[in-house]
Amino acid sequence: MPFAIKKAQRINELPPYLFAEIDRRKRAVQARGVDLIDLGVGDPDIPTPAKIVEKLMEAASRPVNHRYPSSAGLLEFRQAVADWYQRRFAVKLDPVTEVVSLIGSKEGIANMALGFVDPGDIVLVASPCYPVYHIGTSFCGGKNYFLPLTMANRFLPDLDAIPAEVARQAKMLWINYPNNPTAAVAEKNFFARVVEFASRHNIIVCHDAAYTEMGFDGYRPMSFLEVDGAREVGIEFHSLSKTFNMTGWRIGMAVGNPDLVAGLAQVKSNVDSGIFQAVQEAAIEALRLGDQIIEPSRKIYQERRDILVSGLHGAGFDCERPRATFYVWVAVPKGLTSAQCTTKLLDEAGIVTTPGNGFGEAGEGYVRFTVCVDKERLKEVTDRIRQVRF
Ligand SMILES: *Cc1c(COP(=O)(O)O)cnc(C)c1O
Repeated sequence: MPFAIKKAQRINELPPYLFAEIDRRKRAVQARGVDLIDLGVGDPDIPTPAKIVEKLMEAASRPVNHRYPSSAGLLEFRQAVADWYQRRFAVKLDPVTEVVSLIGSKEGIANMALGFVDPGDIVLVASPCYPVYHIGTSFCGGKNYFLPLTMANRFLPDLDAIPAEVARQAKMLWINYPNNPTAAVAEKNFFARVVEFASRHNIIVCHDAAYTEMGFDGYRPMSFLEVDGAREVGIEFHSLSKTFNMTGWRIGMAVGNPDLVAGLAQVKSNVDSGIFQAVQEAAIEALRLGDQIIEPSRKIYQERRDILVSGLHGAGFDCERPRATFYVWVAVPKGLTSAQCTTKLLDEAGIVTTPGNGFGEAGEGYVRFTVCVDKERLKEVTDRIRQVRF
C-alpha cells in the first residue's frame, strides 16, 4: 500500500481560498505583459512611520528582548493600549485583566472560537464579511448562521430578522464597523441595539474594530466599548496593522470583558509564546504618538478615495463615498455577476479587484476596490475604467 496522507475534514471542507484563484488569474494576465494595477488586497502601500521603525531597531539590539516574551504581552504594552483607549475613546481598561496582546488581530479572531465555541454551537456572522470569523467557527465544529448585509439595511445586520429559535441557541455574534468589505459605518444606536439583543439572549459579542482610525472628513468611528453594557457582553479586537501601516509586524490586541479576555489568553498560552518584545516596544511608541502619525495617512487615503469614487461615478458606476476604511464597495453594472465584472476589469483594463461574493453570498452584485496604490495610479485606474464597455 502506498503511504497515504489524508487531510483533516475541517481542511477539506474549507471554501476555496479566494485570493489564490485571483492570484492565478492575475499571473496569467501579467504574463501577457499587461501593467497590472492591484486594488485587490487591503494592505497599506505606505511605509510604517520612521519613528516606529527606529524604535524597533533600538529595541531589537537589547538582549533582554531576545528571550521568550509573555503570551499575554508586556505589561507596558497592555498599559499603552489602556492609555490609548482612554485618550481615544474615553474607555477605561484594566491592563492586567481587560487587555491581551495578539499576533495581529487575525490570530485572536481565529482563536476566539477555540475558547468559546463547542461543536454544534451557533455563531451569528455577517455576509459578506472578513472570512476569519466563520472559518474560526467551522474549525471548532460550530455552525455559522449568516446575517445578510444589504444596501436596504445600510449594511448593518437586521437583528429582528433572526428567528427566535436561532437567537435562543446562538453563542456568539461577530460585528465589524467600520466594515470590511462594505466600508459601512455604525453609530451608537446600532451598538446599543446589539448590546440589548446580546444581553437578552446571552450571546457573546465580538467586535472587530480594525478600521476605527481610518475615518475621513473629520469622522471618528467609535469603540463598541463606549456603549453602556458592552463590557458585560463583549470583547473588541483591534490592530496596529491598518492604523499605523504595520501589517507585516503582526501586533494587535483584544480588550473588554475580563472573562472573555481570560479565555482567549488561556487558548493563546497553550498555542503561542507572544510577540517579539522589540515589536511590542515599537507598538508602544506608535500608540503613544497616535494621531500625530496617523493623520498624514488619513489625509492620503481620503484624497485617494475621492479620486477613485469620482472616477467610478464618472464611468457610470454606482457607489457611495465611504466615511471610513480604505475600501470602496461598488455595485456591478446591470446584467453582470461580481465574478464577470472583476474578470472584465482584469482582462480589459488590467485592474485587480475582489468579487463581492468572495466575502459571502450576500456580497453578490458588488465588487470591492481598495485604495492601496498612489494617486497617480488611481487616476490611471479611472482613465482605464472609462474605456471599458459594460
Ligand atoms: C486587516 C483586517 C484584520 C487583520 O488585521 P491583522 O491585525 O493584521 O491581523 C482584521 N479584521 C479586518 C476586518 C481586517 O480587514
